[in-house]
Amino acid sequence: MSAAVAAYDVNNIFARILRGEIPCKKVYEDEHALAFHDISPQAKIHVLVIPKGAYVSMADFSAKAGDKEIAGFVRAIGRTAEMLGVVESGYRLLANHGPNSHQEVPHLHVHIFGGQALGRMLAVERKA
Ligand code: 5GP
Repeated sequence: MSAAVAAYDVNNIFARILRGEIPCKKVYEDEHALAFHDISPQAKIHVLVIPKGAYVSMADFSAKAGDKEIAGFVRAIGRTAEMLGVVESGYRLLANHGPNSHQEVPHLHVHIFGGQALGRMLAVERKA
């Protein structure tokens, strides 16, 4: 594993949601992924899609996951967006990895934002 990817913490909050130890408001589930509403929504629609495998972030997932897991996860994101009814109106995907991104939960998750106009891509100023 790359030194830039920390070891997987089996007790992170999303691992506990996957084990059913903590409740979530489920949107979609299949063999590869679980989608649920973010506990602290930052848009009218704010849903998280997580793979069922133990991956810290996209860096970890893209390096170690099998092709079926990767395909299954990407399709689950697309199906979740369909179920949320945001395909026509539009939505934004976001996945944080590592310190610069302020990733809080060390289990890969893709945020789906939608249900309203989302403004510009990033709120920060670009540094020279
Ligand atoms: P990150 O900053 O790691 O990309 O995003 C983590 C997200 O997880 C945040 O948007 C936060 O609100 C959400 N979150 C943290 N704890 C919980 C929880 O227990 N349940 C749910 N549904 N979302 C959570």
